[in-house]
Amino acid sequence: MASGVELTVPVYRIKGRGTGPSVYIQANIHGAEVQGNAVIYQLLELLQKQTLLGDITLVPYANPVGCNHKNGEYTLGRFDPITGVNWNRMYHFNDELAKQFVEQYPDTDVDTIRSEFRRWMLDDIDEQLDHNIFGLTTGRRIAYQLQRMALQADLVLDLHTGPISSKHLYCPEYAKNSASYFNIPHTILIPNDFAGALDEATFCPWWDLTQAYQAIGRKLDFNKESFTVELGSQELIDLDEALVDAKSILGYLQAKGAIAANGFAPDAMVRYGCMLKDYKVFYSPMGGMVDYLAEFGEPLPAGQPLARILRMDNYSEADSDPLHYLTLDQTVIPILHFASASVNQGTELYKLFSNYFEL
Ligand code: ZN
Repeated sequence: MASGVELTVPVYRIKGRGTGPSVYIQANIHGAEVQGNAVIYQLLELLQKQTLLGDITLVPYANPVGCNHKNGEYTLGRFDPITGVNWNRMYHFNDELAKQFVEQYPDTDVDTIRSEFRRWMLDDIDEQLDHNIFGLTTGRRIAYQLQRMALQADLVLDLHTGPISSKHLYCPEYAKNSASYFNIPHTILIPNDFAGALDEATFCPWWDLTQAYQAIGRKLDFNKESFTVELGSQELIDLDEALVDAKSILGYLQAKGAIAANGFAPDAMVRYGCMLKDYKVFYSPMGGMVDYLAEFGEPLPAGQPLARILRMDNYSEADSDPLHYLTLDQTVIPILHFASASVNQGTELYKLFSNYFEL
């Protein structure tokens, strides 16, 4: 802080037997997205009764600046107020690393590759944190310190929420099968493109490495996975729902061998997937007061209204209706919508699955 006082982040580490993959889970990098903290609380409670095969690190309140960024009765904390940059777009990625590594270690065994490449990534981050003579922004320093912990794990979960939202998951395309271990019905499959988020920062290097080895004829699987888990709506804590989500995460960790089998199984449900390029933002065509109509998670047939916008300025005009129904000419699945009923033209009104498929 400007006073010189240090801001801190709580870190819970639980030691496992060392026979399973290690896990890193963080929550609340975006200030208003608080439900992940409740899920981490429930995970800590549940983990006391589990046999951990891998180490687990849990970091609630990951962003001490964002958590305290309030305006009136609302929490902001999606963007660094000083730079305007999204807090989840400041992680580090070195797109040269995998290629350089494979040139140096073309024939090494997979276990050595796993540990050495991790060391390379950590050295790369340390270089940014400690040997950057020109310094770092506040946001990058927070992000890199979190990333330093995340990079040491095999499985990474970054807990978020939408504004007003259903549960959904961002999943790397290659880990598609793992999406069904979570009790989350909607999954966005993301390509190997780094855009600054923690999930990408932790899986893109390994995906790059897999491809760089493939290019020299070696087919390797490093068993690294990373997800952004969207737990519902912002500004809400629901401890009962957090318990449901914590069990869902344990189902995933059990399936990956990070905890011993203890009856955690994913529910049977229809799961829908959608490629990131088909995960569409619907921008409001006009300003006005929005009555959100479409249900989350269910296919909305073409022509059915997503929302209606009340425009009182149209009320007294001849041939004009104050209610404007917003529809699309294709079937979509609404996933989340804007938090306020008052919008401008161009406000991000809904996010929707188009061209979706069953997982
Ligand atoms: Zn978020």
